[in-house]
Amino acid sequence: MKGSYFDNFLSETRAAAENKSWQKQENPVVDTEFYSDYNIAKQRLSHSLQTSVEEMDKLLVSFDNKWVPSNGKKYWFTNYDDLLRGLRTLVWEKNVKTCHTDDPDSYLWTEIGLDAFLKKEKVKANSDSPNIQFFEVNKIIAESNTFLILGNENTIKMLNNNAINVFVTGIEQIMKTADDIELYLKVLKDSDIKNNKKLFPILYTPTSKNKDNLFILDNMRSNVVNYVPQRSALACIHCGRCSQVCPVFKCAGHKAYDNIFSGPIANILLPHLETIDDYKFVSYACIMCGNCEKVCPISLPLREMIIENRRFFYEKGHLSYSEKSTFKKIGKAISNRKKLNKIKFVKTIKFRSLMSKDLRRHRKFPPFEKYSFNQQYIKNLKEKFK
Ligand code: SF4
Repeated sequence: MKGSYFDNFLSETRAAAENKSWQKQENPVVDTEFYSDYNIAKQRLSHSLQTSVEEMDKLLVSFDNKWVPSNGKKYWFTNYDDLLRGLRTLVWEKNVKTCHTDDPDSYLWTEIGLDAFLKKEKVKANSDSPNIQFFEVNKIIAESNTFLILGNENTIKMLNNNAINVFVTGIEQIMKTADDIELYLKVLKDSDIKNNKKLFPILYTPTSKNKDNLFILDNMRSNVVNYVPQRSALACIHCGRCSQVCPVFKCAGHKAYDNIFSGPIANILLPHLETIDDYKFVSYACIMCGNCEKVCPISLPLREMIIENRRFFYEKGHLSYSEKSTFKKIGKAISNRKKLNKIKFVKTIKFRSLMSKDLRRHRKFPPFEKYSFNQQYIKNLKEKFK
């Protein structure tokens, strides 16, 4: 790295807050010349994020110790129900009637079921005079009681009004230090997440216990931390690149996941964050094309992790008898050269018949090519040496 512009970035953000110049502020993240070797910089980010996941328990304790209670309240929740109960207490205590959400499109709100909750509590959306405001937190910094919000032009204005603030994040968003925040922002910016929306990063330190509330959600993330082979998946920065190139995601779309994790990374995490039996299908949806791995800025071995999930489900007995026997029969058939070299029509019929009724109902087995790879290879060799 050539140097740090982190201080500039912070002072620009502060200046914007003091001068109330947020309406004029251009995106402060863009600086394409900043890294002398961007690939090495990305490796550094990957290392930093994965170390933060490895040391998550220690870092969360550090963040907890650094918290200044007079500046804001902090709550830990094990699951959605807990979180919504905490929110309900706040809504009742403060007699909340109106609300505003910083980024209504965020899938974090879908994950926790915020819309349905607000409807049930009769809290109406009102961006002009909200009693309560919701912000998604992108990173919490372990060495301080500060966190990062990726807002928009109105976010600073929102933070300066009199409403109660609720900041929500998952435990995996802990970051050891703020040193790599600038690099994290740059990588996000390059990935073009949020469909070209401008990123407006704010490092926020809570100011009042009557106003600022940080909600930190586990929701089975600690389950993934304990499952060592898949732990690094929590380092994902939600850049969305893997989804952009995933053929399965292109067909299924974001709605199929309805969670803050979607696309290839969700194929790994969702069965562990929700229930394996309900969500194991996402791990089998992958066709192993490997496009996701090629574009992941933090080089997560996504295919390997999906295979690890499948192995885990098999070993832990999450496959039904018919699924297990189908996979066994197909495995046996594809390791037999004679069967693979049969004529196209015969082998297509034979392989289709190997699939259980359950699988046949949802999927159509594609027809084989006229010649197997082995037959084509031998044919090409013969032609070459004619
Ligand atoms: S797994 Fe996907 S969303 Fe996560 S960092 Fe890699 S490319 Fe981005």
